[in-house]
Amino acid sequence: LDRMPLSTRTFFNQHQAELAERLATLAPKGLQYSFFCHSGAEAVEGALKAARAATGRPGIVSTEGAFHGKTMGALSASGRPKYKQQFEPLVPGFTHVPYGDAAALEAAVNSETAAVILEPIQGEGGVIVPPDGYLTAARGICDRAGALLILDEVQTGLGRTGRMFAAEWEGVSPDLMTLAKALGGGVESIGAFMGTAEVWEKLFGENPTVHTTTVSSILAYRAALATLDVLEEERLPQRALEVGERLAAGLRQVRDAHPNAIKDVRGRGLLLGVEFHHEDYGLLTIGALAKHGVIVAYTLNNPKVMRFEPPLIISESQVGAVISAFEAALTEAEAMLSGILV
Ligand code: PLP
Repeated sequence: LDRMPLSTRTFFNQHQAELAERLATLAPKGLQYSFFCHSGAEAVEGALKAARAATGRPGIVSTEGAFHGKTMGALSASGRPKYKQQFEPLVPGFTHVPYGDAAALEAAVNSETAAVILEPIQGEGGVIVPPDGYLTAARGICDRAGALLILDEVQTGLGRTGRMFAAEWEGVSPDLMTLAKALGGGVESIGAFMGTAEVWEKLFGENPTVHTTTVSSILAYRAALATLDVLEEERLPQRALEVGERLAAGLRQVRDAHPNAIKDVRGRGLLLGVEFHHEDYGLLTIGALAKHGVIVAYTLNNPKVMRFEPPLIISESQVGAVISAFEAALTEAEAMLSGILV
């Protein structure tokens, strides 16, 4: 703040430039440019606009159960009718196919498709890990149709799944990638969409002000740079993988002891989901866990699933405490539901 107390579009912003440069060195190959904004939804809006501008086509193919945010374009890409119906008509040109099904994707993509937008793992959809090869197949389908691939890494990015970006699990490079959430290190709101030189040229080549926003927080850029420093210095993606395996193993033990309540435990790194047979188990267990001092997440597009997404710095002993608290909370929930759920 001492160095640059005023944020304005008229001054060069060194912090912004440093962050853009840093992200370009970390991101999947070809993602060279960043546009900064405030939230995940805003990043998705930008990526969707970029795809239409770069291809001159209207269509966007998304997936059922997807969550991309709640502004009009991002909501149009999202997959749960409950969050959409009140706001219709939404943006035209969006279609949805089952997630993880490459054949369905191939059938939906055509010469009118600007982009396919995918989460590398669906977060709000219920921590759905696609079959191996799905992202690679999506890349091929887009290439053959002349469409762009947008990977939404708002939830999976920045170490959460055990790699800096979840796209790395398949070595896939998208044309556009969105980031937010962890980018601000949990203390500032900042989002970004990244793109290739080709996309950037088509989007901004003739008119650099065609897409703009006033990011007023200089601190957000510094917070993002500090976040990337810590992620790298403390090898947090690697740590998420190791600690995530321990947490998943503990959750699976609880599943084995409570098969009537828990259907599945799944995920990657520290993006873990527990699927219950009935959503009431989830709601009651989340409440009971809070009393044990453990905060877990409800899942917007799949209420039968609760998510464990702890900070990547969670300690071994905290993992143990979470597993014990989960078992205790679930036992309380089962007692409350006994005789009610059959
Ligand atoms: N994309 C994904 C994959 C998300 O998980 C979310 C939020 O949960 C968003 C976009 C929207 O981000 P925001 O809530 O910052 O608008």
